[in-house]
Amino acid sequence: SRPIVIPLPDEAATIQLGEDLALALRPGDCLALSGDLGAGKSTLARSLLRAVADDDGLEVPSPTFTLVQSYGLRIPVSHFDLYRLGDSSELDELGFDEALASGICLVEWPEMAHELLPASRITLRLEHRADGRLATLTGPEAGTKRIRRSLAI
Ligand code: ADP
Ligand code: MG
Repeated sequence: SRPIVIPLPDEAATIQLGEDLALALRPGDCLALSGDLGAGKSTLARSLLRAVADDDGLEVPSPTFTLVQSYGLRIPVSHFDLYRLGDSSELDELGFDEALASGICLVEWPEMAHELLPASRITLRLEHRADGRLATLTGPEAGTKRIRRSLAI
């Protein structure tokens, strides 16, 4: 389906997108966060988690070393960072399938386990631009339609 392209001129815009996505996502959704170091993947994951928690002060530690942090919220959310994933079969051991069965999975560095992530995943690519970042959302129509509605575009 058509990609959704959203200019993000500053950090506040990235945070707003995370909040909007929090309203659009449902249990069973996998959001793959793709982009270089410093692109804003963790900033977006943090704002999305805080919005689902309805708590601006929610601590969102980086899962760089643990590879996953799970949150028992209104909708359970698991935040993965696969940068240090060794063999891609490790994703199993991290409980990815169980996390997806009951909640939302946010995945930083999805390139490390592309073949294991659900084909129905929604990909959010964040790219550096002279004026901030550019976000591009792609995925099956069922997911992108819900996102368009929550973004009112
Ligand atoms: P990543 O997890 O992709 O490595 P982080 O979220 O840790 O990136 O860091 C992103 C950095 O870029 C933060 O310093 C944040 O304030 C900044 N940032 C986030 N979104 C934007 C934006 N749209 N424009 C400019 N700076 C941004
Ligand atoms: Mg990060």
